[in-house]
Amino acid sequence: MVNRRPLIAGNWKMNKTISEARDFAARFLENTADITGLDILICAPFTNLPVLKEELEESIVHIGAQNMHYETKGAYTGEISPLMLKELACTYVIIGHSERREYFKEDDEIIAKKVKAALENGITPILCVGENLSLREAGKAQDFVRGQVEKDLAGLTAAELSRIVVAYEPIWAIGTGKTASAQDAQQMCAAIRSTVADMAGSAAQEMRILYGGSAKSGNIAELMAQPDIDGGLIGGSSLDVQEFTQLIQNAR
Ligand code: PEP
Repeated sequence: MVNRRPLIAGNWKMNKTISEARDFAARFLENTADITGLDILICAPFTNLPVLKEELEESIVHIGAQNMHYETKGAYTGEISPLMLKELACTYVIIGHSERREYFKEDDEIIAKKVKAALENGITPILCVGENLSLREAGKAQDFVRGQVEKDLAGLTAAELSRIVVAYEPIWAIGTGKTASAQDAQQMCAAIRSTVADMAGSAAQEMRILYGGSAKSGNIAELMAQPDIDGGLIGGSSLDVQEFTQLIQNAR
């Protein structure tokens, strides 16, 4: 059986000024200094990345971004490239978060290009997938999520697929306080792994799958006890140092 290393990834979204990020990092470092056995990641706004690099680069805490362009440079006003992220010590990037799909109209074609570009530039993509409430209520959630996985990861080799992270984030659970039950989350994460197994065989066993959607210190242990859930993508609960630290302790 493959031993997948757990990952707890914070997604700060559009929160924290530079000084707030510096303050968080200093306190978080003290709290996490002796933590072992799992990967810890903070995906911050672009403006916070230099200060996080300064504060965290030598620590066990990894740094990530929440989006990037698929080209390395060029006439794309307002965009940030994989090369720029690498220079800021980013080892992960969130791709295709439901907020980017909804508010910024990112479609599966663009998301697939971004996943590929991240891999080509040595950055681990965290691909977000997940259904909305009407799809869930119509009993179409699994087909929809399987379709997203097939489209967003199309054309990748088995070696590439083994390196990526997929986050299952039901849209109805994001920021709402409603968490998917551990059983529902497990069922979908198993479906994601079997979709990737159809594409790439045993590489699917190496790929890490996270759950995201109102995960907090009080429910992370039950979620991570599921066989196909290898960690969490954490929004609101990653903004507070005490709560995020507690969540990480409980995840272990
Ligand atoms: C997210 O947006 O990735 C997320 C999981 O948010 P929250 O934890 O706040 O639901």
